Amino acid sequence: MSKSPLPSRAKIVIIGGGVGGTSVAFHLAELGEKDVILLDRNELTSGSTFHSAGLVGQLRADPTLTKMNMHSVDLYRRLQKTDTPPSWRECGSIKLATTPERMEEIRRQIGWARTFNLDLKEISPKEAQELFPLMDLEGVLGASYLASDGQVDPSQLAMAMAAGARAAGVQIFTHTRVLSIQTEKGRVKSVTTDKGVIECEVIVNCGGMYAPSIARMVDVRVPIVPMSHQYLITDNFMDPNAPLLPSLRDPDSLIYFRQEVQGLLMGGYERNSKAWSADYQNFDDIPANFNNQLLGEDWDRFEEIAVNSQRRVPKMSEIGVKSFINGPEGFTPDNEFCLGESEVGGFFVAAGFCAHGIAGAGGIGKVVAEWVVAGEPTMDLWHMDIKRFGASYRSPDFTLKRISENYEAYYDIHYPGEERQSARPGKKSPAYEWHAANTAVFGEKSSWERVNYYANHESDDALKPYGWAGKHWSSAVAAEHRATRENAGLFDESSFAKAVISGVQAPDFLNWVCANDVVKGVGRTVYTQALNTRGGIESDYTATQTGDTEFFIITGTAFSTHDFGWLEKQKREGGFQDVTIKVVTEEFACFALMGPKARTILSKATDYDLSHANFPFMHSREINIAGTKVRATRLTYVGELGWEIYAPVADGKKVWEALIAAGAGEGLMPCGYRAIESLRLEKGYRAWAGEINTETNPFEAGLGFAISKKKEKFIGKDALDTAKQSRKLVAMTFDDIRQVPLGNEPVRINGNVVGRVKSGGQGYTINKAIGYAYLPLEHTTPGTSVDVEFFGTWATGVICAEPLFDPENSKIRL
Ligand SMILES: Cc1cc2nc3c(=O)[nH]c(=O)nc-3n(C[C@H](O)[C@H](O)[C@H](O)COP(=O)(O)OP(=O)(O)OC[C@H]3O[C@@H](n4cnc5c(N)ncnc54)[C@H](O)[C@@H]3O)c2cc1C
Repeated sequence: MSKSPLPSRAKIVIIGGGVGGTSVAFHLAELGEKDVILLDRNELTSGSTFHSAGLVGQLRADPTLTKMNMHSVDLYRRLQKTDTPPSWRECGSIKLATTPERMEEIRRQIGWARTFNLDLKEISPKEAQELFPLMDLEGVLGASYLASDGQVDPSQLAMAMAAGARAAGVQIFTHTRVLSIQTEKGRVKSVTTDKGVIECEVIVNCGGMYAPSIARMVDVRVPIVPMSHQYLITDNFMDPNAPLLPSLRDPDSLIYFRQEVQGLLMGGYERNSKAWSADYQNFDDIPANFNNQLLGEDWDRFEEIAVNSQRRVPKMSEIGVKSFINGPEGFTPDNEFCLGESEVGGFFVAAGFCAHGIAGAGGIGKVVAEWVVAGEPTMDLWHMDIKRFGASYRSPDFTLKRISENYEAYYDIHYPGEERQSARPGKKSPAYEWHAANTAVFGEKSSWERVNYYANHESDDALKPYGWAGKHWSSAVAAEHRATRENAGLFDESSFAKAVISGVQAPDFLNWVCANDVVKGVGRTVYTQALNTRGGIESDYTATQTGDTEFFIITGTAFSTHDFGWLEKQKREGGFQDVTIKVVTEEFACFALMGPKARTILSKATDYDLSHANFPFMHSREINIAGTKVRATRLTYVGELGWEIYAPVADGKKVWEALIAAGAGEGLMPCGYRAIESLRLEKGYRAWAGEINTETNPFEAGLGFAISKKKEKFIGKDALDTAKQSRKLVAMTFDDIRQVPLGNEPVRINGNVVGRVKSGGQGYTINKAIGYAYLPLEHTTPGTSVDVEFFGTWATGVICAEPLFDPENSKIRL
């Protein structure tokens, strides 16, 4: 460690010397950043890293995370050839299936591994036993094997990355505790340590389970809770000359194994999780001297895992236990990492690795270093972005409930459409009681209770998808879809994230951050993307000009922190001091009335002239409904004539009931979010974090129409002007409407895998299953036959011209 005095300034300060901090340092150095200091309050690896089990698996449920873990393996192989090798052992890994559902999961994973060129293969129970002879095969139906997975010594890994970083110029100071962080004009300015103050431009909080306490120094909420995680190591009993065993995971039994010297290391995810140093009322409070320490053995909670391990590996009941490790590790509410720049400029976080931080460290360091250098993520990191967490996570109670639920379900199969049950009900629409009284089945998004569908619309299961897509399916969705296409549907979208952007500079600001021209005059509504400097879609929303210098922005429920946080950053960095961004999500309800009879119905609830001539498409007006002044905006996300109606929350229930009453006799049906999904897929409307994200540009996503041709400057324009399009988003249909792609399935043309499914669903009007995928341009011609792998079986579909429904937009512009 550095013996020189602590410098008084550095460009980048990394806090934390576990695998996270050392990897960020290593990758920053690789990118040429030399003016970097890493601080740890104790020794390197003295947090969670030193007691990790060290398993490294690559395939994860998220494509980006899989790519990151593949980078980790590449890096660990590379480091193994240096003077400070991390003991990387490429022993392979086995995953067992003991239920038909787990077997399906394995086959599905093999499919998407194919899209990464990862050689994951299905093996028989006998082959699994040949690879791991200690295993009993009771109940085993099948398995998968990935030869390039492995194991590493976590402390040596951190030391290897630290050595690489140091050799490239990074200075490392241990026993240097960060006490406070100073900010100026919304950006970090310096860190104060017990050894002095360092002025800096960027801070990367790699504090692991300590990250929330570090973030509180700048009033940033990092929703991580230290959870107790346990494993044991047996006495040595194996032949020292025998080949290294592969790692073994038996998720149905909640357990994992790997060889440790000539014994076994065995751990798992308990069904009765336990938080450490945090509870429902209080944030984490890790003792100031908690380094290089473990928690007390908790055999009671480990019992189920121990019993299961003896069933799977009978030898476990014969051999002694050499050590039992109970170590705390930072978990997040959805078992994904917490990465990226917070609302404080230059304050980055790379923490919350949820017991897969060793597998992830290489990739984490790479993407975070790139993010710091570029000022924006270089991959689609939405699922790991700190900005995915809404304001509810400021509550210790909400956070811990979610984390406990997810910890305990870590090894469960997660079917599409699964809803989380903890910490509910959260935020409610003013019409919530009406929905509940009318058989609504609620889902949850960003702590909002939202109607998925109404159970009383259910009929029979004739259209129920095969397999996983049918697990949380309801026939009510088809009924609600059809009612919207044939008559009208009323959707409660009160959870939409909403903001008012105002100030003299607001028009210039919005035309700088938006790719479309959103300054079209008071009363005009524009659909736009906001791009990053690479031309990727950072967010997409509608902007309504409500005054000469005032705009009403509507974006998705889950994107409030992300989208409005990004706008705040552009405002700060672009010098738009005059602009005010006020989040008003909870001030307005939103009800969407959509369908061919929308005008007839709305006319009964208002005396405003709703004719096309007086109230054209993409216009917005203040009108009266039930004695309440509301904002009605004529647009659609389902491909029908319709209005979104924004009412003050206090009058929301009254307005909802007035609309329901106006629809009596017109076939109006209250509808839920699942119907919106089906309707918008059929119409080809894109969803951010679905078909579009920070890695996709508007042209390949088929959104070129929303890019202003008139504007000379906006963020991302230069990149768009020079972008070479090599791929395109295509719609594929399958004649059997029950054969529904879920996402991530490989897409094959002429026998070659050419892409993976982005999103899928059922189109009840076209009576087909639908999938979307980015494919190389040469394969995007409508009429091209495609094969998609569903759980190990290939089904044939066809690429179709878009949109699949109402290509002339005749339904919208009536
Ligand atoms: C029992 C157990 C088994 C595990 N098994 C696996 C596995 O098999 N595979 C896998 O991939 N992952 C596993 N993990 C997870 C993995 O160990 C962690 O994800 C990883 O070590 C976290 O690294 P980190 O750098 O984020 O945090 P840490 O290693 O905790 O590092 C954070 C550092 O920040 C420092 N710090 C805190 N506050 C300050 C301050 N104010 N000033 C300066 N420094 C500060 C601390 O001293 C600490 O060194 C396991 C975890 C546990 C607990």
